[in-house]
Amino acid sequence: MSLHSKLFKGDARLEACLLHDSAHVPPGTVGNHVSKIQTALAVLNDADIPNTESVNMQYGVATANAVLAYKQEPNIINFSYQTRADNIVGKMTIFSLDREMLLKEVNARASCNCGPSEYSPSVSHAILAFSTWPTLSTGPVAPVPPVSPPLPPPPPPQLFAVLGSLRGARDLVQATLNVLESVVGGSMQPAADVALVTQALQTHYLCTAAELAATARSVRDKLNAVMGVLKKGSGIFVPGVPGDPDGGSAYAYSRSVRDGKIYVNPEFMNLAKFGRTLVLVHEAFHFLSEDNQDMCRNPDNDAGKSYRLVTKNLRERNAYSLSQFVLHIHEKSEKTIDLETDTVANLAP
Ligand SMILES: [Zn+2]
Repeated sequence: MSLHSKLFKGDARLEACLLHDSAHVPPGTVGNHVSKIQTALAVLNDADIPNTESVNMQYGVATANAVLAYKQEPNIINFSYQTRADNIVGKMTIFSLDREMLLKEVNARASCNCGPSEYSPSVSHAILAFSTWPTLSTGPVAPVPPVSPPLPPPPPPQLFAVLGSLRGARDLVQATLNVLESVVGGSMQPAADVALVTQALQTHYLCTAAELAATARSVRDKLNAVMGVLKKGSGIFVPGVPGDPDGGSAYAYSRSVRDGKIYVNPEFMNLAKFGRTLVLVHEAFHFLSEDNQDMCRNPDNDAGKSYRLVTKNLRERNAYSLSQFVLHIHEKSEKTIDLETDTVANLAP
């Protein structure tokens, strides 16, 4: 694994940070790599780093606060030993910053052929090349903390994959909620949204016209609860346990007696981009309650045959009803999806 963004790629100090806990970048650090972190925080999170720190390439109080704010996003917590965000740039943080910078850079290129314009590291480097930063320092630099005690082994790759998909999963839920709002919410109701929500609720929850509003509110509440799970951040995700009777061949699973964790198997790596977000939404629903189960097979496995047989009274507890509803809103009609290729297909009526 290595860094991929133009901003970070090839920076030995940051490449080491990605790979080794001992190479994390703590407050008090000074250097070119700190300047790059500050740039990323400014570009991605509108961090306001004062000149006293940016010109001096100094990881001072403002930088530390900006790192903390970024990590509270909340998806940058080291799964294995941390439960709260801190102000240190470690493996997970640099991974996330790099991934988001890469997306920014790619998007900038897609819309414009003159290269990323939202930041200009070469300019800041040119200035810094002529500065003598140790003597420019205007404030006390916090002492570098002593070397940390040995840390647990790094999380397996599927947990990094979860980290990279959490924001997309939250965006997917939010987009669904926005459309649902056309039925349960205020007076501004785009007719197309109302028609889509009506059709999706009738398809996946088998509700009558009279039950439409109540069903919409119920599904909205479920999605809000799912959002709450996805906002808990990476701390609830742990590696699947080999041989776990609850695990099987799933991409991810909850224990049949819920224990506040979502177990993620290595197979999660096989999922495509959208497939990962949909699986996270589905698993977050399982996480909420032992009542929330798979009442049928994955509709992609049998073209929805068993899914169609799930009775109305079980629909609201069926994890596939929720994820199929989300997919329906996303695709604007009932579909199945091959989670490993993101290939969407029609369902026979
Ligand atoms: Zn399931």
